[in-house]
Amino acid sequence: MSKSVKAALQLFEKERIVRVRIAEPGSGLTAGSGVEKDLDRTEIDFRSLIENAQDVVVRYDLSLRFVYASPSIEQYMDVKSEELVGKTHRETGLPKALSSFFDRSLRQVIASGKPLDIEYTLKRRGIQRFLESRAYPEFDENGNVKSIVAITRNVTEQKRAEQGLHESDERFRTLIEHSADALSLIDAHGAVVYESPSARKLTGYYPEERMGRSGLELIYPDDLPFVKNTLAEVIASKGITKEVQFRSVRKDGTVWWTEATAVNLLHLPNVQAVVINYRDITHRKKAEQALKTANRQLNARLAQIEQLQSELREQALRDPLTRLFNRRYLSETMERELKLAKREKKPVSVIVMDIDRFKKINDKHGHCVGDKFLTEISKLLQSHARGSDIICRYGGEEFLIVMPGANARAARKRAEQLRAQCEAMRISHNGKDLKVTLSFGVAAYPAHGTEGEEIVIKADKALYRSKRSGRNCVTVWEENKG
Ligand code: GH3
Ligand code: MG
Ligand code: MG
Repeated sequence: MSKSVKAALQLFEKERIVRVRIAEPGSGLTAGSGVEKDLDRTEIDFRSLIENAQDVVVRYDLSLRFVYASPSIEQYMDVKSEELVGKTHRETGLPKALSSFFDRSLRQVIASGKPLDIEYTLKRRGIQRFLESRAYPEFDENGNVKSIVAITRNVTEQKRAEQGLHESDERFRTLIEHSADALSLIDAHGAVVYESPSARKLTGYYPEERMGRSGLELIYPDDLPFVKNTLAEVIASKGITKEVQFRSVRKDGTVWWTEATAVNLLHLPNVQAVVINYRDITHRKKAEQALKTANRQLNARLAQIEQLQSELREQALRDPLTRLFNRRYLSETMERELKLAKREKKPVSVIVMDIDRFKKINDKHGHCVGDKFLTEISKLLQSHARGSDIICRYGGEEFLIVMPGANARAARKRAEQLRAQCEAMRISHNGKDLKVTLSFGVAAYPAHGTEGEEIVIKADKALYRSKRSGRNCVTVWEENKG
């Protein structure tokens, strides 16, 4: 088999056209050469293949004139294939630059005696095509080049596909390289098999430094167990996606917050990795922490304000000297207690008391001594009170106790106790033991009235009676005694 046949075989291998004798010296495939009748069966088959093939087969003589062109050339040129015979490229109307390029290439084949591949584009009727031609020499018996055969294939589709693929590869590569996120691929053993260049900004390591190392190497020790477990979980389940936040250590030792999304694509033949997409969220974390701290401070401040407000409310309802409730509180409370008592069908008693001849104490021993008596009597009242009792400083030296659940009898009993306790109480001043007494008035719901104000007035009137009957005593309201 001649060299040229081998070349042709090689060229057509992909198309599986293997019985080609195109370049057999003297085979005479030139149009109208008259040799057709000598062709054997194989050659006739071959001719029909050539004539019907998409590829263009052309033979030139040494003066670079067409000797043969297969009909498929008409896809690219506006002439009949037979009309090309005897013409040079220039004479076929091909663009000048292309004609010169073809001629130069063919001369090179003649000079070197070796096949030559060329690639070029050809525009016809607005359609650009990518073409690939292989030109190879045909030799005479003395080994001299006697003609050239060129086979041309339209590779437009293939080129476009390659170009598209290349462009999309390029686009993804650029995207990955310019993404603020970093991308790591990890194998089933947790070793890094790829890291995007952008990872360096985050980790401080060049991707090459990380190859083959453990994907967990840069995790902050405290967060390692949790990240390790998560990665193990991801490696174990195909297709699973997990998003985690943890701290990492940069090459320079600084700690940064990482947010990573890991997807197990180990099962995909063209990936075979756990794909980890990660980013630096230190700023976000710091902002979150600052927000949390600010919130905590704000809450503490709010609690403080609430405390102050409740203290203020307290203060507004309490007497500053004795810390007992004041008259304002009493009016609010009386109504509430009465309602409750009515609902629960329970009694409520009121004891009103007044210090006897208190003016004298002040006048004789001074206001401070008077105050001392007021605070001591307050303590006395508090020490005898029950949880539900409400004790008020009702006026200057007057006190009042609301006793929910207590009837007049129980209230009188309490008043008697208090009276006796007060009488027994001494306050030392200037080496003297001073004492005061208290007069009491008692009234109760429902025995003496149904409204809060009414009960208080009646208790007050009863107190007045105590004063009139000599002081230091307890009087329970009685209707007809007034
Ligand atoms: P009685 O009630 O027994 O009729 O005589 P009294 O002297 O207590 O009566 P009065 O109502 O005339 O006097 C009340 C006195 O209480 C007048 C005032 O000096 C004194 N007083 C009122 N509030 C205070 C106070 O906050 N501190 C002191 N030290 N004295 C007060
Ligand atoms: Mg008094
Ligand atoms: Mg008084």
